Amino acid sequence: MTTPPALLINCTTCRLVSRVRFIPTGGSAICPRCGAHLSHRKPNSLARTWALIIAAYILYIPANVYPIMTVISFGKGEPDTIISGVQSLMASGMWPLAVLVFFASITVPLIKLLGLTLLLISVQYKWHWRPRQRTILYRITEAVGRWSMIDIFMISILVALVRLEAIATIEPGTGATSFAAVVVLTMFAAMSFDPRLIWDAMEQPNVE
Ligand SMILES: [Zn+2]
Repeated sequence: MTTPPALLINCTTCRLVSRVRFIPTGGSAICPRCGAHLSHRKPNSLARTWALIIAAYILYIPANVYPIMTVISFGKGEPDTIISGVQSLMASGMWPLAVLVFFASITVPLIKLLGLTLLLISVQYKWHWRPRQRTILYRITEAVGRWSMIDIFMISILVALVRLEAIATIEPGTGATSFAAVVVLTMFAAMSFDPRLIWDAMEQPNVE
């Protein structure tokens, strides 16, 4: 057995770069500064990210098909899906809010899912195509995720606000649970993806 060469490993928590000579199989090295586990690459990154992404795609369907909330005022009310909510916001002239909800609830989660799928496929097939741009795409996907929670925050604020007046009530629907699950799953998927894999492929001969 030959001694493996020393590896430079970046701590994903505190960003300290340490020189690690040996990582035991199944074990991990510890960051000397913050104590976080160091790994050369995130373990099973591809499989984990795929699993989370597929689950998010499946839940994206009920999130858009089922009502996200029901507004009952004076005893009357109809359940609203994300799309019908956007439509009724536009009908009542609340354009900025309609645009915000449309972007945060439909566009952003879908772009995130598609972006991560593209990254996964590109790493799986060891593409040499625009690694820098793909790394930037990963950073955007990771940063933008939490903003899709706006919809869930809006529902929870509305539910709390409207409960105070007896005239109207707002009930969160089944769609809201699925939607929150989609957002959380994509956030975990972005976290479990290891962008260093993009650059690993660059060091291997092109298979295309
Ligand atoms: Zn650290």
